[in-house]
Amino acid sequence: MRISDIPGQERAKSLLRQALRSGRIAHAYLFAGPSGSGRHDTAMALAQALLCEQGGDDACGECLACRKVSHGNHPDLHLVKPDGASVKIEQIRELQRELSYRTSGAGYKVYIIEAVETMTVQAGNSLLKFLEEPPSPVVAILIAPGAQSVLPTLLSRTQLVPFVPGDREAMEESLIAEGKSPLLARAAMNLASGLASGRALAEENWFAEIRNVVIQLGRENPTRFPWSLLTAQQKIFKTDLSEHVETLLQLLALWYRDMIYSMTGRDKQMVFSDQADWISQHAWTRTIEAWTFAMESALSAARRIRAHVAPQLAMEQLLVNVREG
Ligand SMILES: [Zn+2]
Repeated sequence: MRISDIPGQERAKSLLRQALRSGRIAHAYLFAGPSGSGRHDTAMALAQALLCEQGGDDACGECLACRKVSHGNHPDLHLVKPDGASVKIEQIRELQRELSYRTSGAGYKVYIIEAVETMTVQAGNSLLKFLEEPPSPVVAILIAPGAQSVLPTLLSRTQLVPFVPGDREAMEESLIAEGKSPLLARAAMNLASGLASGRALAEENWFAEIRNVVIQLGRENPTRFPWSLLTAQQKIFKTDLSEHVETLLQLLALWYRDMIYSMTGRDKQMVFSDQADWISQHAWTRTIEAWTFAMESALSAARRIRAHVAPQLAMEQLLVNVREG
């Protein structure tokens, strides 16, 4: 992943690209921000940019060095993660030994230490000495939840790169960490504007039911149109779900967007990732334009309900429109 591919985090990205552009690279960076905010991906992206044969303010993503970073086997990139519950002194010593070897090329050596807040005092002291006398040209990227969770002595020797919470992915991950189903967390965060509203949605029983109905409608509508009308009638309008048709339509729009995601290789962003196999087999029965039309139709049906069109009417018209493409 290149720096420019990182979602959100504009401040962190511009800070790093500016450093790369000017060639004023710090010996050590502290990537401080909540889990899920993209710190690890950004660290990998910075490492890739530093090691890239093309230079510039971002990695080219294609040279041998870039590919080695992506495949996790670049000899000048070292990644340290907690061994059990903490980052231990043996790991820092091992890292120092590895970095003392000659570099494979003329460029940088980079090391990333995850969860610096878990570092034992001994490991921290050992790292500190290392940061004070860095074997040039070595770049350290330390990852922590916040500046306050790092020893002040370490903090003073690093350049702070702040990561903000709030991007969808980060919020999705915190819902999962709270114990929400990953599938519902993703669906909710694609519909909600903030963590609180996403959480509320993911906690509703009807939301899980709506998701199932959307899958059924999405599968039936293009090829078994009469069934989809029947499904809408029996599973939505004869039940309590009839109160949530607007949300259902917004979710149905995301189902159609998943068709486009599947066709364009963006499977990781899919909301209905549990349906990826079915979607990959059926997405190509239509063009991207046709799925875009379906998506827009679903959103416009939701808008019509807000403007007091009868929900059942809006839904049935949508199913007719999308069937005909
Ligand atoms: Zn490259």
